[in-house]
Amino acid sequence: MLLTISADISGADMGYLLHKNPTRLHSFELPFGKAHVFYPELGATHSEAALLLDVDPVGLVRRRSHGAESGLHQYVNDRPYAASSFLSVAMSQVFGTAMGGRSKERQELADRPLQFDALITALPCRGGAGLLNQLFEPLGYEVEAKHYPLDECFPEWGAGPYHTVRIKNRLRLQDLLTHIYVLVPVLDSEKHYWVGDDEVEKLLRKGEGWLATHPERETIIARYLRFDRKLTRSALARLTEEETADPEAEQIGYAKEESSIEGPLKLWEQRIGAILSGLRASGAKTVLDLGCGEGKLLKALLEDRSFQRIVGLDVSWRMLEIAARRLHLEHVPPAQKARIELIHGSLMYKDNRLNGFDAATVAEVIEHLDPARLAAFERVLFEHARPRTVLITTPNGEYNSLFPSLPAGRFRHKDHRFEWTRSEFQLWANRNADRFGYKVRFLPIGIQDPVAGPPTQMGVFER
Ligand code: SAH
Repeated sequence: MLLTISADISGADMGYLLHKNPTRLHSFELPFGKAHVFYPELGATHSEAALLLDVDPVGLVRRRSHGAESGLHQYVNDRPYAASSFLSVAMSQVFGTAMGGRSKERQELADRPLQFDALITALPCRGGAGLLNQLFEPLGYEVEAKHYPLDECFPEWGAGPYHTVRIKNRLRLQDLLTHIYVLVPVLDSEKHYWVGDDEVEKLLRKGEGWLATHPERETIIARYLRFDRKLTRSALARLTEEETADPEAEQIGYAKEESSIEGPLKLWEQRIGAILSGLRASGAKTVLDLGCGEGKLLKALLEDRSFQRIVGLDVSWRMLEIAARRLHLEHVPPAQKARIELIHGSLMYKDNRLNGFDAATVAEVIEHLDPARLAAFERVLFEHARPRTVLITTPNGEYNSLFPSLPAGRFRHKDHRFEWTRSEFQLWANRNADRFGYKVRFLPIGIQDPVAGPPTQMGVFER
């Protein structure tokens, strides 16, 4: 069976990403046969790598290391040519570093989503070709599959389970490899090797960041664990446990508390008003809302046709789901829908999806970031995404003593890492403006107190 991966990067870059020197053939002995890595194409701007797996069915029987099949089936089966869990095992042995997201020489490239095109032959899709689409499409893949007849000499026998599958997506190599690693055995779904408790671990680890929210997660888990009821139940329980144990639910509670403190001032409305007028004044047509939360600002942006492209990013899936509901994304007309996109991501990591926007808004977000991690955020925003205009709002800590319901010394939101005074915020903002070539000015939001200043402060950065 053959897996090829191609992208618009040089052969040298592909070699660094996969940790395999592109100028030679690499062969590996595995418990069930041999794996070979080679590069069918090594261009300056486009390259392709291949993993060829040569399963030795006789060796398998002799070693009896992978399931004790008996009778003829142990000699006559599709294991030597079908993409199966053997491919996953080979991938983890041969591309382990790349699957872990590491590249000694090209870390920046490993961290970046690239347009990949992967071809898998021959992939058995037991459960129908529809399953192929249901598994890959929610992860953003474009899927093409060529279906083969069971036997070309006997068309009346109909189609067999095998497909040549091409999947295309813009993502990190690490994600491409992990998706294939998990989903190929799910599609194959052969009871072939023994599945132990550590398979649950492996699945949860490899599924991190995508499995919990995949609409077919139950099918994926059950088939990956070969329908072992006990393991499937435990994997599902752990997946949902990890989901509910995450701090997001708490965050929503804290956010409610914060709005009850700030509520009487209708601060969020004033914030949105100030941000909208800042954006309109800048002439921005494309806007990023970083840490968009429940999408209140996105909704206001969508109502103004001068904003042609609006992207909301948040680290919390739950918040993005709330935002999608608030924006009625399922029901809005296509022209409207084309203007808006919600993306899952973290402000701690460089992300090419954030490039090329006229403006970015970061409303009530920086105070949620650990001071030690603020430096990463500064570079992600001002150095890499680099929009012409950046609007940042954050509470003015000096104002806190004026909130009747806020005990002295407490922050407005339990997750806030700091609530800066005006001079602290201005010091931070001026330092970043100087460092990254922006000019910054400051505007108050909300009714100002003569001593404590406004409840919220905004920095308007322009370059
Ligand atoms: N901008 C919204 C929400 C503010 S609450 C508003 O004004 O109402 C802060 C938001 O930042 C939360 O939704 C939280 O999930 C998000 N957030 C926190 N850390 C983040 C990170 N590292 N990357 C992206 N979003 C983050």
